Order: sequence, then structure tokens, then C-alpha cells
Amino acid sequence: MRVLLSTYGSRGDVEPMAGLAVQLGALGAEVRVCAPPDFAELLADVGVGADRPAGAPTSDRGGAAVGGPAPARDRVADWSVAMTEHAAVIAGGGPTGLMLAGELALAGVDVAIVERRASQDLVGSRAGGLHSRTIEVLDQRGIADRFLSQGQVAQVVRFHMIPLDISDFPTRHNYGLGLWQNHIERILAEWVGELAVTIYRGREVTGFAQDDTGVDVALSDGQSLRAEYLVGCDGGRSLIRKAAGIEFPGWDPTTSWLIAEVEMAEEPKWGFREDARGIHALSRPENGGPVRVLLTERQVGSSSEPTLRDLSEALIAVYGTDYGIHSPSWIFRFTDMTRQAAAYRDRRVLLAGDAAHVHPPVGGQGLNIGVQDAVNLGWKLAQVVKRTSPESLLDTYHAERHPVAARVLRNTMAQIALRRPDDRTKAVSDTVSELLSMDEPRRRLAAEMSGLDIHYDLGEGHPLLGRRVPDLDLVTANGPLRVFTLLHDARPVLLNLGEPSGFDITPWADRVQLIDAKYVGTWELPAIGAVTAPTAVLIRPDGYVAWVGDLTQPGLADALTTWFGPPTAA
Ligand SMILES: Cc1cc2nc3c(=O)[nH]c(=O)nc-3n(C[C@H](O)[C@H](O)[C@H](O)COP(=O)(O)OP(=O)(O)OC[C@H]3O[C@@H](n4cnc5c(N)ncnc54)[C@H](O)[C@@H]3O)c2cc1C
Repeated sequence: MRVLLSTYGSRGDVEPMAGLAVQLGALGAEVRVCAPPDFAELLADVGVGADRPAGAPTSDRGGAAVGGPAPARDRVADWSVAMTEHAAVIAGGGPTGLMLAGELALAGVDVAIVERRASQDLVGSRAGGLHSRTIEVLDQRGIADRFLSQGQVAQVVRFHMIPLDISDFPTRHNYGLGLWQNHIERILAEWVGELAVTIYRGREVTGFAQDDTGVDVALSDGQSLRAEYLVGCDGGRSLIRKAAGIEFPGWDPTTSWLIAEVEMAEEPKWGFREDARGIHALSRPENGGPVRVLLTERQVGSSSEPTLRDLSEALIAVYGTDYGIHSPSWIFRFTDMTRQAAAYRDRRVLLAGDAAHVHPPVGGQGLNIGVQDAVNLGWKLAQVVKRTSPESLLDTYHAERHPVAARVLRNTMAQIALRRPDDRTKAVSDTVSELLSMDEPRRRLAAEMSGLDIHYDLGEGHPLLGRRVPDLDLVTANGPLRVFTLLHDARPVLLNLGEPSGFDITPWADRVQLIDAKYVGTWELPAIGAVTAPTAVLIRPDGYVAWVGDLTQPGLADALTTWFGPPTAA
């Protein structure tokens, strides 16, 4: 008999649990206890092995049962059937966690989300839309129309409030989409609901312990899950990141803002206002509804939840009155704190989205890069879980995505610095505005902020290597076909645009689709321009080009093996 005892949710009273463990052990049961570190020591005293949550000081990086004597540890080696098992558990069902779950489910991986919120409802407005590359990755899965039909297509890229038009960019989606985060999450959740994803709602991940074969995940309701991998998509205050002991270096906040939706008894002064403190704004949505308030606070420092009184005082400090505010729908505080996880992976634990990077919302990029983190990680984690690829494939996730977020951190810091209300900063700001009215700087920065210029370092070669494949209109023996349509199932594609070569895809045919097609137009990349038409490209499930060449070249087999695993023996 194998028994799992969880002490989570019973903090005050561990002795009965320890006693029960000892008695069950005496009856020959294999007993394992999931326990916080202080309990682990107590249990060790009575000879029971216990899992510590990660992050607790431990000399054993393997992190398996600690505290118990060696024989007890051996006895619990194969205990996991006692828990609910999933191949992957995702902590947090915000935009990043939902996207990742969808990607894993598409690849046939048994995935579960643990989400603190009881429903997908989101208090507050947060992200206001999607940038071009995010719309593209949704299009790669065939779900972009769900978002486009509910939002407002617009030129949304702004650096330091300067609009950067991308309508001349070579993409089907040469625009952004205005759509509030609650709608983005709802649509993502609907898509995930169509796939095989388990969602544990209304409970939190409270700790975990990882060992050589998996991760034990403790939930706030006392339940435990066992997974091969745990991904922290649990936002900027990520418990997973902290418990894994992953450092989060960066910059402390210099400015703090209050945002809120409230009713006002008096008609306020609508629009933006700028003073020595910074920018403030009062607006009413077109459909009526509560007043939206944005206020730069006098000082940084308060980490408490903001109250109506805080908002009233901040309004009076700026406008001389609080306009009789009452009935807040919500009040939030955010800052320009800027930090990035030093590592996106610690063995079987990974981080994505805000859990891996936080920065001020200027330029509207946080949700976008979180969703794209998920699309980079999903297929890699799926291949590792399915034993198609070695674990080392997961290291490319950090190698590729860390630099992307680092650039976003840099451009948001620059935008915040440009907001300083002194004359010298104003001079820099004017100079930047002039620069961005020129074509080349506009194209470069717009391509960066829209996510269209992402270039993963896959070595020297054709300009397409490591860049997004354009969504070209192909012609195949079966009729016209868009490149993105080939990616709907999140499977890799070997696209041959030359003469049929006789390349034998059979050893990878269970993973990679070989498509013969023709394309007669030019190949053009955002901010780069026209590039030489390739004869063949190997496209990863995330839409990035892994190899460019000719199907007769010997490097193709290496590229297939590197990215999609070794050939299957005949
Ligand atoms: C004012 C404001 C405006 C913004 N505007 C934009 C914008 O215009 N464009 C843009 O791209 N981004 C914007 N952002 C950023 C965007 O909101 C975030 O980047 C995005 O929500 C990150 O998604 P995520 O899924 O990584 O994290 P989150 O959205 O924070 O989701 C984390 C989820 O994990 C859950 N959770 C947390 N801890 C646990 C736990 N221990 N166990 C289980 N569940 C847990 C939470 O309930 C939550 O659902 C804005 C942010 C703010 C504050």
C-alpha cells in the first residue's frame, strides 16, 4: 500500500500526521509526506521522509525526500501513483498559462492549470491589446479571428506616446488590436476549454519539491499533484520563482501610479494633465460607465493595497478636488519596477510571462511577450515530455526568450526615463521625437515593439534563420495554402519550394510534415526588406525558421535531429 499524507492546510497540527505516518509505516505501507520545511524537521525526528517545498534551504539539489533516514527514503521512491499525475502542471491561468496549456494540449500532452481565481473574471483593465506578432502567433493556431472579431484594429505601437505606424510592414496583420485583457483571457480560456486541459480553479500552488523524475506540487486545498514539469506562469510575484530560489535582479521602482474606475459626483477636467510629478489622466469610456483615473503618485514606497482614501488624496494633490469620487469598481497601484529572472529554468521548473519579467506597462508589451514565451516553450516542453527530444532542448527556451524580454525591459526603462519632467529630459524627448519621425528609426523601433523583428540566434546563414516565417500564399498540388495554416496543429513543417528532391522524410514523418509548394512572390521581412527566396525552409511549431537550404544538403538531417529529435529507426 502506498500512502501520501499532505500537511498543507493543517499548519497548526503536525503531530497527529506524524503519528499516523509512523503507524502506517509499521503496517508495511510506503508513506510519503508533503510538508513545509519546519514540518519536515519534525517528521525527520520520528523517522518519516518528507518533501520540503522548494526554496527551503537544502544541501541536496535533487530535492527529494529530506529529513528521513535512508531506508525510509528508499521505500518512498515509487510513490507517485498516490497523487494526481499530469505530464505538466502550470501554476497560473492568466494569458501566459492559458496559451501554454493550449500549446501543450495541441501536442497531446496531459497538462493541468492551477489557478487561484475561481473564474476567469478579471478585476481591472490591465492590458489594452495585442501587437502584430502576437496576432500572428494566434493566426498560426487558427484562432486570430476570434480576437480580431471582438476588438478594434488600430495602429497601437507607441514609443514615449509617439505613434509608430506599421501599415507598411510586410505582414497580413500590419496593425495592432485594441482589446482589454479580460476579453483576451476569456477568448483564450474558451480555446483552452476546447482542448484537453484540466483546470484546478479556486486554489493556489503553495509549494513544490522537485526530484530527478518529477515535481510534487502542493495545493492550498491540501491536494497534491505530481508532474514531470512545473511551469510558473503565476505573475510578477511568482511563488514558483521565489520557491525555486531563482534570482530576480533589476531596478527598484522610481515612480508609482494609481489607476482606478470610480464614479464622480462632479464633472472632472477630462483628458491628460502633466505637472512636475508626471502624467495624470481622467477619461470616461465611450459607452459611459465609470470614470477611468490615472494618477502619478507623489512618492513610491507604499506596497499596501490602495484605498479610496489614497485615490481621493492623490486627486486633491493634482486637481485640488476629488470630484466627489465614490463607488470604485477597482483601484490598483503599479510602478516602474523592472526585473528579470536570472534563469528561466531550474531543472524541472520553468518560468514564463510576468513570472519571468516585470516592467512598466508603457508600450503595452507585457502580455504580448508572455504569450510568445508560451509559444516558444510549449512545443519544446511537449517534445521533452514525449521523449522525442533531450532535456537540453529546454535550455534553448531561456537562450531565446531571455534576450527578447531584456530588450523590452530596456525600451520600457527608456520610455520612463523620457517622462522625467525636467528641461534636460524634455530636450532628449524632443530629439527622440524628431528621430522617430524619420523612416528608418520608426521602422526599427516599431518592428521591435510589435515583436516582428525577433531574431533567435541560430547561427550564421540566410536572414530567415531564427526569424519568423512570413505567412505567404503558397500554391500546392492540392490548391492554394497559407504558410500559417500549416502550423495550426503546432507541428513542424519542412517546406520545399524547389523541385521535388526525393528527400526521405520517413524517419521524422511522425513529427514533421514535408510540404512541396511553389511561391512566386518576393520574400520580405519587417525592418529588413527583401531577402533571397529560399529553396527550402524548416519551420518550427512556433513559426520560427530553424534551417534554410536545399533538401539535398547534408545539414538538413542534423537540423531535423537538433530540433525535432533523432530519426526513428526503420
Ligand atoms: C496597468 C497595466 C496595464 C497593462 N497594459 C498592458 C498592455 O497594454 N499590453 C500588454 O501586453 N501588457 C500590459 N500589461 C501587462 C499585462 O497585464 C501582464 O504582462 C500580463 O497579465 C501577464 O500575464 P501572465 O499570465 O504572465 O501573468 P498574470 O496575468 O499576472 O497571471 C498570473 C495568474 O496566476 C495566478 N496565480 C498567481 N499566483 C498563483 C499561485 N500561487 N497558484 C495559482 N495561481 C496563481 C493569478 O491569479 C493569475 O491569474 C499591463 C499591466 C498593467 C498593470
